[in-house]
Amino acid sequence: MPVLSYLHHLFNRDQCHASIHTLRWKERPLQCPRCQSQDVDPWGMYHDRPGCQRYWCHGCKHTFNDLTNTLLHQSKRSLASWILTTFLLCLSCSSRRIARELGLHISTRYRWCWWLRHTAVSYETDRQVEGTIEADDLYHTAGQKGQAKQGGKKSLGHRARGRRKKREPGRGHDDKDRPAIIAWISRQGAVVIHATKDFTVQTVQKAAHLAVHAGCRLSTGSASSYRALKGYMHAFVNHTQKEYARGDVHENRAECLFSLLKPYLRVFRGLSKTNLPGYVGFFQFLRNVRQQNACQQAELILRAALDPTSASQARRGEFVEYLDHFDLLQPAIN
Ligand SMILES: [Zn+2]
Repeated sequence: MPVLSYLHHLFNRDQCHASIHTLRWKERPLQCPRCQSQDVDPWGMYHDRPGCQRYWCHGCKHTFNDLTNTLLHQSKRSLASWILTTFLLCLSCSSRRIARELGLHISTRYRWCWWLRHTAVSYETDRQVEGTIEADDLYHTAGQKGQAKQGGKKSLGHRARGRRKKREPGRGHDDKDRPAIIAWISRQGAVVIHATKDFTVQTVQKAAHLAVHAGCRLSTGSASSYRALKGYMHAFVNHTQKEYARGDVHENRAECLFSLLKPYLRVFRGLSKTNLPGYVGFFQFLRNVRQQNACQQAELILRAALDPTSASQARRGEFVEYLDHFDLLQPAIN
């Protein structure tokens, strides 16, 4: 029997509860999550969850605790394993790896990882870049991993299909199982990355509209979808004529970002098209908070996970968007 089997066994239970309590009520007064009444009192502990403080609300005559209505609500696992999962996620571990390190079932861990990734993306939904922006596109192989042949969810106990994809020449498309990833990088630091189904003029215009402040200076390649962009000052380099930089017109930062994104995605050993925007969104979060260490990044995610509104939206995956040009017809774009 090894002495150190799982890292989370070394965590102090009371310290975990104290940290979660602080994170939950850091920016808001201690109040009832049902009726928002602040007329509350401590109400003992739970028999089955040692260390978890219970409160009584005099407003609605119900009890609650620090985890009520959050992402961690009614979880049977310890807080230490939630904290460690978030930490390992920030170190770019796959859910399978996290499951092994924490000794839990893969489907539990898979569900948690997606909830937490979606929670992190809540920081990125309204992000726009400004200043001088570089843009570039990448096509990543992504198929139907984890899904049934006819689409939809795979039945339990079914093995994943080994679909080894061969690259087709030309630009990728969702239908060819090679959706596009477009990166918008400000030379001042911030990054926005979109997973898109195609690389048409309309899709790129929509992505630019979401990511870049109007009137900014763009520096891109010479693809026709970039040339057609409206509303920006625009300079481009012509890669087909082996022109990679002309003065300060280049997209080297964007190329560099993709050289980090590719090994990040390789860890997951094949992606599903439906999950691509989630992975890309989480990578965007990690890049935009790259000055902080993994503990501080995990704290940001946990703070959002302890907010009842973002927690319920994250469970439903509402922060993540897979762009295409079909919903352009809706008035939201103008
Ligand atoms: Zn209440």
